[in-house]
Amino acid sequence: MIIAVDGPTASGKGTIAQALAAHFKLPHLDTGLLYRAVGRQVALSAGNPDDPADSLAACAFPDSLLEDPELRSEESGGLASRVSIHPQVRRALFERQRTFATQPGGAVLDGRDIGTVIAPDADVKLFITASVQARAKRRWLEMTAKGPERETDIPLAEIERDIVKRDDRDISRADAPLRAARDALVIDTTEMNRERAIAEAIEAARMHLGGKR
Ligand code: C5P
Repeated sequence: MIIAVDGPTASGKGTIAQALAAHFKLPHLDTGLLYRAVGRQVALSAGNPDDPADSLAACAFPDSLLEDPELRSEESGGLASRVSIHPQVRRALFERQRTFATQPGGAVLDGRDIGTVIAPDADVKLFITASVQARAKRRWLEMTAKGPERETDIPLAEIERDIVKRDDRDISRADAPLRAARDALVIDTTEMNRERAIAEAIEAARMHLGGKR
């Protein structure tokens, strides 16, 4: 069974994907982390994230980089969104994601194009969204609570601007733009707390599966 969870940044898709994986006892892949690793690798090798060749070379990042806490920073998120525009990068990361998705027993993957490109054959497709304001506020609270020192004093308005910029880039890129698959169920978490969003997603997945699990 493949469960695809897509949506924009800070929509709650990561939390929901983790909860679905725990509920259905499936392995989980946060595909954003792969793009973040490519972005970080470009920076480490003093390359240009807007250059397709530099970005493609960075796809050979060492697996140990996926453990780097720096990948969770806003800076890495921004770099990821720049390298993810290049079709060469998306192609280079395709096989790894597809192999994870099709492993025996199934998997949960979250990202931007799981239901549309990586696993159009997924059994369950969810598209998690929320207003820009709600997403910025969540991000800000997260950063204030546990972010690296230098990120705790970023004003809310700046985070909002950054989210809008990233949404624009993800939605308007030519290759695998962020959009809900035609057969995805859209869950808007703007007015939901974490528990409610998770409960809705699990219920939606169970319904999709005909209440079998
Ligand atoms: O989900 P996360 O914020 O970690 O993703 C970082 C960036 O990586 C996104 O803004 C997006 O540009 C890119 N990405 C993507 N396709 C995915 C996952 C992430 O293009 N499947």
